[in-house]
Amino acid sequence: MKALHFVGDSLAELKEFDKPSPGNGEVLLEMKASGICGSDLGNFKESKSLKAERSSLIIPGHEPVGVIAELGGEVGNLSVGDRVMMHHYSGCLRCSMCRIGYTQMCLQHHEVYGYSADGGHQDYMVVPAYTCISMPDELDFAAAAACACGTGTAFQAIKRLNVIGSETVAIFGQGPVGLSATMFAAQMGARVIAIDVVDTRLNLAKELGAEEIINATKVDSETVIRELTSGEGADSTLDATGIPDVRLEAVDSAKYWGKVCFVGEGNTTTFDISKQIIHKQLTVLGSWTFSQAGLSDVARFVVERKSPMSKLITHTFNLDEAQCAYDLFVEGNTGKVVFVWD
Ligand SMILES: [Zn+2]
Ligand SMILES: [Zn+2]
Repeated sequence: MKALHFVGDSLAELKEFDKPSPGNGEVLLEMKASGICGSDLGNFKESKSLKAERSSLIIPGHEPVGVIAELGGEVGNLSVGDRVMMHHYSGCLRCSMCRIGYTQMCLQHHEVYGYSADGGHQDYMVVPAYTCISMPDELDFAAAAACACGTGTAFQAIKRLNVIGSETVAIFGQGPVGLSATMFAAQMGARVIAIDVVDTRLNLAKELGAEEIINATKVDSETVIRELTSGEGADSTLDATGIPDVRLEAVDSAKYWGKVCFVGEGNTTTFDISKQIIHKQLTVLGSWTFSQAGLSDVARFVVERKSPMSKLITHTFNLDEAQCAYDLFVEGNTGKVVFVWD
């Protein structure tokens, strides 16, 4: 079987491995789809010299979706042939966070598949049985892979913001997470203002339901958002970029008593707390992916509400085209990009 390694300096190399066997409490997944997420790009671009300092390379891919090919011992609630999405974290299963399905917040220790443990960019993958979440029959594998990180993260963030149909939501960044947030907020009835610096992504946002699009290289986004909201600002704003200046814009574009949600990771951002947050009576949220139940929820919503996933997923590749897929995604002009197996 083949598996991918990022060997440094934006090179993706396919390697031959023996097919692994599941141990107690584990299952073997025959991979059917594995998404590319913005958070993989740091690992992809890391220099060869930094890679050389690592004892071993991890197989990337944290949106694994497949069919169960083999059961290890003591696995009672799954069968060979089941179509499953992986909730890509392990935890102790006993602490308060694991018990609510947030194994990524385990109070003891957690692994993130695709970062600290081998992920989905391989033909077969051994995973703990409890990470397998059943897929609705109507959901295709590529759409399920999107749900397993980027799209699921967007769904959870929009739910955390309690977006309702009478509201205007400004969504900063229209990569796969921001585009998904645009799609869901629009499906929930809100008026979406989508902000990005790339026209192809803004056009996709429009197709996914954004009522207004703003290219932040051409106009000042806060000014335009205020013009579109009688001078008051958006009811809710969401940052899917992680860029400090954009986070400030997300805060400044929210109206008095508004809500702000941060999803884009990394960097440090400085706020004038009194002026920008306290005196505006803002509710500020951080939202990190989703629980095991949250993964089921987004999959069900996508099916029941016929979310236009085929518009969101602009490119699919086979794993042998990995270099091409990552070279394309890193340019930042696409929607969601997913590896699929026939
Ligand atoms: Zn735990
Ligand atoms: Zn991700």
